[in-house]
Amino acid sequence: MWTDIDRIIASNQTFVITSHIHPDGDAIGTELALCEFLRARGKDATIINTSPTPVIYRFLDPGGMMRAPASQEDLPRITAADAILIVDINDWKRLGMIGDTVRTSPAAKAVIDHHPYQDTIVPTTVIDVKASSTAELMYDLITSLGGPLTRPAANGLYTGILTDTGSFRFGNTTPTAHTITARLLEAGVQPAAIYDFVYNQNSEARLRLMGRVLSDMTIAYRGQVAWIVVTQQLFKETGALPEDTSSLVDATLTIAGVEIGLIFVETAEGTIRVSLRSRGRQDVNKIAGALGGGGHRAASGAVLPGPLDDAIRRVTGAIEATMNAE
Ligand code: 5GP
Ligand code: MN
Repeated sequence: MWTDIDRIIASNQTFVITSHIHPDGDAIGTELALCEFLRARGKDATIINTSPTPVIYRFLDPGGMMRAPASQEDLPRITAADAILIVDINDWKRLGMIGDTVRTSPAAKAVIDHHPYQDTIVPTTVIDVKASSTAELMYDLITSLGGPLTRPAANGLYTGILTDTGSFRFGNTTPTAHTITARLLEAGVQPAAIYDFVYNQNSEARLRLMGRVLSDMTIAYRGQVAWIVVTQQLFKETGALPEDTSSLVDATLTIAGVEIGLIFVETAEGTIRVSLRSRGRQDVNKIAGALGGGGHRAASGAVLPGPLDDAIRRVTGAIEATMNAE
């Protein structure tokens, strides 16, 4: 499985590692583990991301090795790299500001991901949709190529598996995910400390925002669909940040009978980010796909033009059509 990537690693010296905009724990944990691995092998490796690193994941990078958010000064490094390794994403567009530079760089390129896609963007692609996370694949890569698996790398991989499995509760929580997690604990990962870094760092503003959006939640379609909305106005009133909206949508699915939960977030540019979550019976990847987005069966997303009311009508209309078609 790793032969081609092994060859790229062995035959090159300078590497750029990147992942999607709005990186999650899997993207960042995987990037840091790969960077540690390459550096331990004497390679010159740099992580460059379009988006800033969310505060809750900065503990993974105490040395500040990630270049995020990327600036114009980072672009020549992408053009000059021997190889670019793209993780947790297989889509030029979702690389954000650096996407065009990555695409046109003469560097050797490889993609490692666990999301389903129709097409590959580079010839060297390892996509395993059965993997819980890209971190799980990265564990396999690092150990298959003989390591080393350093403590910081293990922390990154654990964070990736922890967050992509929803703390070991989603359908992707497999025996493999647990087996790898056990190996990561043996490598020194401290689960309580990581949980505290990732999940117990709410700002007061985020909790105020949560309270406001939940009290204004809409429930429709015989109680099967619930959605919450974050406007720019609400960001201003609560002092919360866009990254504070991540995982707020999960609360909608805790309601008995709700099959699909949604959050609509109005961005500063006026576009609307929608995140869709399914209890399992409905495939929200199909719904997001029809709206120009993507993701997985149980968790997907898309970006729609504003205004907010139009976006809500479009998405909930698509959901109603899916549910009626059954
Ligand atoms: P979230 O709602 O947490 O941003 O994303 C949930 C899942 O949907 C993730 O697996 C993410 O990769 C995918 N996703 C979110 N937004 C988009 C989008 O605009 N386009 C595509 N293709 N996938 C998305
Ligand atoms: Mn992932």
